[in-house]
Amino acid sequence: MPVSVYADRTMLVTDLIRKKRDGGELARPEIEFLVDGYTHDRIPDYQMSAWLMAVVLRGMSRAELAALTESMLNSGKVMDFSSLPAPKVDKHSTGGVGDKTSLVLAPLVAAAGVYVPMISGRGLGHTGGTLDKLESIPGFNVNLSTSEFRRVLGECGTSMIGQTPEIAPADKKLYALRDVTGTVESPYLICASIMSKKLAEGIDGLVLDVKTGSGAFMKSEEDAVFLAELMVETGQRLGKKISALITDMSQPLGHAVGNALEVAECLEILDGKGPQDLRELCLVLAAWMLRLGQRVKTVEEGRALAEQLIASGAAKEKFGQLIKLHGGNEKVIDDASILPRAKQHVDLASADSGYVSAIMCEQIGIAGVLLGGGRAKKEDSVDPSVGIIVHKKLGDRVNAGDPLCTVHYNSTERLEQALPLILKSYTIAEVPPVLPSQIHRVIGDV
Ligand code: URA
Repeated sequence: MPVSVYADRTMLVTDLIRKKRDGGELARPEIEFLVDGYTHDRIPDYQMSAWLMAVVLRGMSRAELAALTESMLNSGKVMDFSSLPAPKVDKHSTGGVGDKTSLVLAPLVAAAGVYVPMISGRGLGHTGGTLDKLESIPGFNVNLSTSEFRRVLGECGTSMIGQTPEIAPADKKLYALRDVTGTVESPYLICASIMSKKLAEGIDGLVLDVKTGSGAFMKSEEDAVFLAELMVETGQRLGKKISALITDMSQPLGHAVGNALEVAECLEILDGKGPQDLRELCLVLAAWMLRLGQRVKTVEEGRALAEQLIASGAAKEKFGQLIKLHGGNEKVIDDASILPRAKQHVDLASADSGYVSAIMCEQIGIAGVLLGGGRAKKEDSVDPSVGIIVHKKLGDRVNAGDPLCTVHYNSTERLEQALPLILKSYTIAEVPPVLPSQIHRVIGDV
């Protein structure tokens, strides 16, 4: 294909690369030209890589970022659910270990009458993915077409699927290029990538759960806040209501890490039980979603409504309906033993006595991947049954010999790779640590 620097009569790609390299600001038509040209193979990988690297090093203005996000969003189909009779909201998490809130939030918020069209991802690096968790429910199909997605959303109030080829194709191509050119780690490129996909869902509001701590991609709170501010401002420039919560990921969320184990834990939450930290985060995120969805006036009211929908069983019933409409076995909501189970399990005992003062959360996530619960390569399949139940969390008192975790496994070889990582991830000290708060701060539509 004849491409390259003369891709357009009026613009030279090399000029745009130079402009960004030298710290200049690109105009909206210049960004549209780059995104459209790259998506339609008129601009080659080597030129786009050079421009992406210039963005990594020089950053972007807020106007450039909005133009990039909008160009990526408009590279594909933007769904229109305006005919549905209530607001549409979603939640996006930047990813963590044991982060399973989507499975609780979608049915919970839909049970309140707010639509939740959710397009999710698979596990990335040490973090788990909503699609992999859902697929551990026997029969659950995450690959619905856009018209099936619309039908399930209309009937149930929520539907949860993977990215279809029509949604933000520019992001799909750019993400693959960034992955192999050292250009993933730019808050501007991360923001455009996430927001272009989420805003294609035709939503009115979005709650962002931006994780910080040892199990997050943004390890420092400063980086998490910067990314959150970019995403909030970009979404608002595109006319959406956006709130971002900076939340703690210095230890796994809840107890379960691993696909089927996490689904079982979500069922406990929908039963009004389950680990306190997970329950708390689900209630807070639901409250913000209900507020952005104009179902309630205040976050406090939203939380009370969410608690009520769990206590009445309405949220769990909605989860059953969602599972059924996606072809899954809805009996799972009353019988978690339907979920796949690993053949073996082993307890990991603490060598010391004291208090859990730190957990290298990323290592626990990697151990889950090594057990087979995530992918080392894109084409790997996932074992839904394996994982880790974390018994001891930050601040817990332990005596030597107490189980820190239970590891569920199907392969001794994999277990031997994962065990040292889990053991090394714990620090036991004589004094209890200062416990981090679950919600560090809120940014955006408050
Ligand atoms: N998740 C995304 O969807 N895009 C990024 O760039 C990073 C994380």
